[in-house]
Amino acid sequence: MSVTVVGSLNEDLVVTVDRLPGRGETVVGSAVALLPGGKGANQASAAGRLGRGVHMVGRVGDDPAAGRQLAALADCGVNVGRVQRTPGAPTGSATIPVEARGGENLIVVVPGANAALTPADVDVESVHRAGVLLLQLETPLETVRAAVAATGGTVVLNPAPPQPLPAELLAEVDVLVPNEPELRALSGVPDGDDSPAALVALARAVGSGDVVVTLGGRGALVVPAGGPALLQAPPPVDAVDTTGAGDCFCGALSSALDRGADLAAAVRYAVTAAALSTTGPGARGALPDDDAVQALLD
Ligand code: ATP
Repeated sequence: MSVTVVGSLNEDLVVTVDRLPGRGETVVGSAVALLPGGKGANQASAAGRLGRGVHMVGRVGDDPAAGRQLAALADCGVNVGRVQRTPGAPTGSATIPVEARGGENLIVVVPGANAALTPADVDVESVHRAGVLLLQLETPLETVRAAVAATGGTVVLNPAPPQPLPAELLAEVDVLVPNEPELRALSGVPDGDDSPAALVALARAVGSGDVVVTLGGRGALVVPAGGPALLQAPPPVDAVDTTGAGDCFCGALSSALDRGADLAAAVRYAVTAAALSTTGPGARGALPDDDAVQALLD
């Protein structure tokens, strides 16, 4: 089988500054980096690096950034045959000034070609025949819904960035993977107790299938549709940059499910892969391969 990711591709412009500028202010930065990004492409890259057959369905523009994003995906072993170029549109981008100390940042996202991904674009064999279909919310919701309707595979949805979702869509999701703020946004309970028991109650109220809540350095909470919940702690690692850890988690979880792992084993695999991804800089700077994950699991 294989994992098919329907989602966004972005180019991130990360600028290091001593302090973020105020309104109307100019500050001088000390470094600038062009990095591949977008939740969809990050998640596809993680699954590709782990060695699954991965297909990406998405759109880029007709600019130089498009070629860079396709090459970065292919470099992770992702099949990009269904990523289409969109005449007249820019490739999606995120401009991110980040403070050298403390990592405080601002983000301006231009969806560009990601906004042009239509339901017709997902009516393709790689979606119909996916073992696991992995989705996020950086592409139009009607396209996400069309992909879910078209697939016969296990549907994994990372509801990020958060937005209200129709009950009919949530009912068709097999594994919902929010972080805590996304779970709260979906549940309509903006803050409160963050104990595992309280989060399990929120997860059961939101999802009709399995729910996996990622909890940063605490690991992930597995809330199966019909069984007891469990908290899966990460292995000890020296985390230096947690950017994109959630994306690595979703790609690794989908990869393990596609290989036939049950939910608890797939979460153990994903927690381990995501922990390893925090040991280097950037969203894709330290994506592990399968050998590295297995070495920590054995
Ligand atoms: P991002 O938006 O940066 O991608 P997220 O908020 O979606 O992150 P998190 O819950 O922060 O996702 O992290 C996802 C997973 O990554 C966690 O469930 C955990 O397995 C792993 N992880 C994150 N931070 C750490 C850490 N400090 N140490 C070990 N593992 C971590």
